[in-house]
Amino acid sequence: MSKVTKLKGLRYVDDKFLLPGDHIAYIEEFESGNNTYEVDGSVRSSALGTGNFDFKYRRVSINRKNVATFPKIGDELVGYIEMLFSSMISIRILYINNIKSDSGLSAIASTKISDSGGHHFRRDRERKPRFVFRVGDIVRGRVFSLMNSSVHATINDKNLGVVYCLCNNCGGDTVKLNNSVKCVECGMTEDKKVSSDFGKQTLNLYLKNK
Ligand SMILES: [Zn+2]
Repeated sequence: MSKVTKLKGLRYVDDKFLLPGDHIAYIEEFESGNNTYEVDGSVRSSALGTGNFDFKYRRVSINRKNVATFPKIGDELVGYIEMLFSSMISIRILYINNIKSDSGLSAIASTKISDSGGHHFRRDRERKPRFVFRVGDIVRGRVFSLMNSSVHATINDKNLGVVYCLCNNCGGDTVKLNNSVKCVECGMTEDKKVSSDFGKQTLNLYLKNK
């Protein structure tokens, strides 16, 4: 899930979040730079942050992140879907517990929604929705694990899921209809795992948060 960004002068920033003690590189590959230390030939992080690889000088350092911006288990995240996988989504985090986050971190969440995810399907009469997720959808999740320095979130609860999205067909505004959203412009409907407060007003509340 980690993404490497190339900078000028042969420097690379890997956006995988590193914790103190995490292995970054071997000393044969990179020298130990700022916020790192060496143990048995392994360069390790001494801070919370992301790796900054200088290929010219073969040195790795850590760009420190504010600890307050790193999510904890139980935190509520809001962000947009940046990547889709077969049964997972990657969410670029914009808000942690309603506070704007510029950490550049992403969370991963399963798109498998159980019946107990705040939706009750009457199996005999109601078809089970096939929820569609799209890049750009604004999603709320809750952190349940930080295993392998990755943020794992769930969207499987009534107040979790897509809080707002634009119409995939025409880019128009959408409104919630039970387990789906409908475009107010073209009328297209898509099944979505929506949060109980889905709507533009919810997104606007977040946009006001600094
Ligand atoms: Zn539309």
